[in-house]
Amino acid sequence: MDNRILEILAKESARQSETVELIASENFASEAVMELSGSIFTNKYAEGYPGRRYYNGCENTDSIETLAIDTVCELFGCNYANVQPHSGANANLAVFKAFLNPGDKVLGMDLASGGHLSHGAEVNVSGAWFSSYTYGVDANGYLDYDEIREEAIELEPKMIIAGASAYPRQIDWAKFREIADEVGAMLLVDMAHYSGLIAGGVYDSPIPYADVVTSTTHKTLRGPRGGIILWNNKDYTRKINSAIFPGTQGGPLMHIIAAKAQCFIEASNLDFNNYAAQVVKNAQAMCDVFNKYGFKVLTGGTDSHIILMDLSESKYSGREAADRLEAVGITVNKNGVPDDPRSFMETSGIRIGTAAETTRGYDEARFKEIAQVIVDVLQ
Ligand SMILES: *Cc1c(COP(=O)(O)O)cnc(C)c1O
Repeated sequence: MDNRILEILAKESARQSETVELIASENFASEAVMELSGSIFTNKYAEGYPGRRYYNGCENTDSIETLAIDTVCELFGCNYANVQPHSGANANLAVFKAFLNPGDKVLGMDLASGGHLSHGAEVNVSGAWFSSYTYGVDANGYLDYDEIREEAIELEPKMIIAGASAYPRQIDWAKFREIADEVGAMLLVDMAHYSGLIAGGVYDSPIPYADVVTSTTHKTLRGPRGGIILWNNKDYTRKINSAIFPGTQGGPLMHIIAAKAQCFIEASNLDFNNYAAQVVKNAQAMCDVFNKYGFKVLTGGTDSHIILMDLSESKYSGREAADRLEAVGITVNKNGVPDDPRSFMETSGIRIGTAAETTRGYDEARFKEIAQVIVDVLQ
């Protein structure tokens, strides 16, 4: 390996092992997932789908992709899956390609309130090529379903997107279904952040309610970096598959698909349910400490791995808080809060996630200690 690369790799390895990782979108994949991500499947071109490839020599890629599809369908209880999206954003783009025409109206969660770039932000293709409208959260940080309903009735969007990158509470998927039905919209649920908790049975599944579900595989689900699309309606199969290939991607990353299969198998084990339950318990234990010291947590707590600390009345902005925590070896990210008094680059909150350190075996007592350190730093 090139020496410069080796040196950088060694530094990153040290950073990952010496710091407390509280970035909500990160995790530590298993050694098996890591090994498969760097496996010989990276050498193989397999454009198309199992049994219908454009290249020869695909018998083993067919087997691994079929295994990944079957396992993920069983894991989440759905009929169909596409495991080829290179990322969560690509999965969403393909769903747009499959069901929308440029200019169609979509209604998604506002980026500043905890939504994702790929749900209609102006700087993203989802906002640039589609007519995107947003809903947000109330002053306490909760989704206001009555307001979302009113907005949907007024707009009549072709698609409603539910799902978030920074929302600590259970999202009411049934309510979104009701709203979508009332206005004749399609419902896309992007469960990127919650999919590991859903697989582990500690967060409600959107599968019975959504027309299409997208997810990443590397957040709470703890697999390789990548995306998936899940659905139940047979009529969508051709549309979605052709929106991935040839619609928005070329050859699939077969080494990553092999690692995804491993991830789905790991997530089907009982151990994974214990991990998911512990992730939520750990987040709630941290909230208890923050509340005890008078630090405001949006919505007052959490139902997931996510905690949003509101620093709008603190002397430190979100950026300063994140930098000060990094200086003592704790990695978090700054995050906006409702009616943020500070700028987008400064922000008045931090987002904390418990998935990664739960994977490393930390329990509530350990997370309370970390919360105490965070309190000390911010005081
Ligand atoms: C992280 C995330 C994505 C994007 O995933 P990438 O793999 O980074 O493209 C999409 N949607 C939501 C809700 C996310 O949290």
